[in-house]
Amino acid sequence: MTAVEERMKSGLPENTATQLFIAGRWQDASDGGTFADLNPTTGKLLVDIASGTADDIDVAVGAARAQMDGEWGNTPGAIRGKLLNRIADLIERDAELLARLEAHDVGKPVGQPAMLDIPNAIATFRHFAGWADKIHGSTIATAGYFGQPTHSYTVREPVGVIGAIVPWNTPLMIAGWKMAPALAAGNTLVVKPPEDAPLSILHLARLIQEAGVPAGVVNVVPGLGEVTGDALVGHPGVDKISFTGSPRVGRIIAKRAADTFKRTTLELGGKSPQIIMKDADVEAAINGTAMGLFFNQGEVCAAGTRVLVHRSLYGTVVDGLSAAAQAQVLGDPFDPTTTMGALVNAKQRDSVLSYIQAGRDGGARVAAGGGQPDRDGFFVEPTIFADANNDMKIAQEEIFGPVGTVIPFDTADEAIAIANGTAYGLAASIWTRDVSHAHTMAARVRSGAVWVNGWAAIDPALPWGGMKSSGTGRELGWAGIEANTEEKVVTIVL
Ligand code: NAD
Repeated sequence: MTAVEERMKSGLPENTATQLFIAGRWQDASDGGTFADLNPTTGKLLVDIASGTADDIDVAVGAARAQMDGEWGNTPGAIRGKLLNRIADLIERDAELLARLEAHDVGKPVGQPAMLDIPNAIATFRHFAGWADKIHGSTIATAGYFGQPTHSYTVREPVGVIGAIVPWNTPLMIAGWKMAPALAAGNTLVVKPPEDAPLSILHLARLIQEAGVPAGVVNVVPGLGEVTGDALVGHPGVDKISFTGSPRVGRIIAKRAADTFKRTTLELGGKSPQIIMKDADVEAAINGTAMGLFFNQGEVCAAGTRVLVHRSLYGTVVDGLSAAAQAQVLGDPFDPTTTMGALVNAKQRDSVLSYIQAGRDGGARVAAGGGQPDRDGFFVEPTIFADANNDMKIAQEEIFGPVGTVIPFDTADEAIAIANGTAYGLAASIWTRDVSHAHTMAARVRSGAVWVNGWAAIDPALPWGGMKSSGTGRELGWAGIEANTEEKVVTIVL
């Protein structure tokens, strides 16, 4: 079967991008190597993707550096903004195709990227199009220089060549979080898409080319983490690594980046609490926490996997979340009745199943789910654990699947102690009708984001990032511009 026939048989469009995009050219890997991109719903081959080598990374970094020192480095912010808006227009034009690619590749119901990931990517490019010509420094008064007055001001300059490493759960959206602020601030990029789901980012590369972004400003090099990703992190010509992924790999990258003093932004995992106070609107809280548990098959860094419930509401919430788990319809991402897809690969499925076993072994009660449906693909039943405590493995470690642990509390102090009682600090939800509780609890939770009466209220205008093991640095909003610039001070002795 030819490659084109193979693609059409898998349901992918015949012209799906599968090569490396370096210096404006689509090409095979330098050694001709490929990796298999599987369909999570069937477990079968979706398509073979060119697998970038260290040599390919070297060429891509060279192209990005040449643009930094050349045309792109001299492109005014207003023009960069115009290009970012054009990219947003093209994502909007191809929104349906991009949602389909993510459904094939990640295994998620096609309506979800159409509703969230793709609109978020469009909004992110538009938001940063607006910043591109508004990046400014400040003037600062000083005590002078050996008795002479001075005039001091700061300017923000691009960091340089940025290596962006992206995970598979929401690939287009997270690629947008890295690319849009970096380009707005005048940087160039080498992007390493995830090996489990590279297709939407490869299509984005086509749109960037069509938008007229000069060749070499954005290079997209798919490949394996330990090969292509590692070559990018180790390359002396890369000034910064912007990484989203697991704490395990984040730690490797932080250590490796230190060798060449690269800047890093690390967006890592989470074990986020959702606190349901005694005065909460219980129905809204159950609906919202269920979304925080099951959206995107629970493969969300900010998934609210620890549901902390005031003891007076405990039974009601366990029953409500169990009903929500049982109401999930697992199946084909293209069937409109499907609400939950497959996990991304066999390793992820087996890891989630092993956590479910650990929950049972640890003494928690399975209130819903707990098994593996009898069908092809990497499906796991949405699962609710009750009668659990915060010391259990299922309450401490990131599962990255549709598994929630419901833990009772009696006082606000106890809720805060449990909420802060993991290594993570990415996000938290608080469900309450008391405005005083909303603010006092929000102030006491150690996490990068707190949502009151909602879950995942993420917006490109708001800074995003974690405390503790959830990472370092912030993306999005003005913080995204700061993360992609170096601040220089200029002092003139008058
Ligand atoms: P992962 O860490 O396994 O992989 C992430 C990326 O890193 C992939 O592109 C992979 O190829 C690459 N990589 C792997 N090893 C590497 C190495 N040695 N050097 C350089 N690159 C390497 O993570 P994943 O399984 O793709 O994603 C799930 C994780 O991502 C979860 O922990 C989740 O919480 C986290 N995540 C965080 C956020 C956030 O914003 N904080 C968002 C989404 C996902």
